[in-house]
Amino acid sequence: MNKILTLAHYYTIPEVQKLADHVGDSLDLALYAKENKADIIIFAGVRFMAETVKIINPSSRVILPDYNSTCSLVTMTDIDKLKEWRQKYSEYTHVAYINSSVEHKVTSDWIVTSRNVVEIVKYLYSIGKKVIYSPDRNMGAYLNYEYGFDMKLWDAVCEVHDKFNAYQLDKLFSEIGGSKYLISHPESPLPVLKKSNFIGSTHGLLNWIVNFKGDEKSVIFVATEEGILYNMKSKRPDLDIRQAPIYSGCKCNSCPYMKMNTVELVKRAQKEYVGFEIDYLSDDIIKQAIIPIERMLNFKI
Ligand code: SF4
Repeated sequence: MNKILTLAHYYTIPEVQKLADHVGDSLDLALYAKENKADIIIFAGVRFMAETVKIINPSSRVILPDYNSTCSLVTMTDIDKLKEWRQKYSEYTHVAYINSSVEHKVTSDWIVTSRNVVEIVKYLYSIGKKVIYSPDRNMGAYLNYEYGFDMKLWDAVCEVHDKFNAYQLDKLFSEIGGSKYLISHPESPLPVLKKSNFIGSTHGLLNWIVNFKGDEKSVIFVATEEGILYNMKSKRPDLDIRQAPIYSGCKCNSCPYMKMNTVELVKRAQKEYVGFEIDYLSDDIIKQAIIPIERMLNFKI
């Protein structure tokens, strides 16, 4: 009898999250799969995440419900140009955000997540390394600004977080009385991050909400994908939690790729094991890609 595990990212719709054995951010899901060995993993998320699950769990079948669920950080990165860039800075250490394709990961020395990137880059500078950072330009710009790094940056963005807008935030804040907070994911643009009370990973933002001890009448704006607001509101129904506005003023920012994981497709994948199977990674590419991932996993913060 096959053991089946369904994993869902926080950015999927609540109805899909309810179908999952575990809900989390990308690394959390890959590590959960490792701990809870399964023959078949139905992965409600996007393709680069499913690839990471496969790299960490090569003996499991990994099925993504929809072939088209990619990510702008992947589609904005031309791999041949990335290789040229890497070559141009061949004496640098290449740190790549986990939100990248497998072909991207194998060009890197270290993989990082938004949870551990600061400590890993600080460590690299402390031992005299020069660093290039890819693919998220916004996150790299924030790290350079906040910690005084001088990393060379690749130029791609998360099309969702990049839409949050500082002007619209100012406008909204001037209209709302009382106490207000802004918490943001570091994939957001720097002007938004500069206004934030807290900047953290998806997991970090959720923890911030869970542990919030301020005035319960405060309005808390969140600059990240709308899916996580469901988890935030279920953990703290007493708080007024709203999504931050985008450039048009609309508080309506969602990831189209994550939303391709419909209830219908996830249920079908669970029942018939159909969808887009991550069965195209050779043993060699898995061996190469696991090296920078293991460097990160073995790094003690
Ligand atoms: S939210 Fe952004 S980084 Fe995440 S999958 Fe969607 S486009 Fe990619």
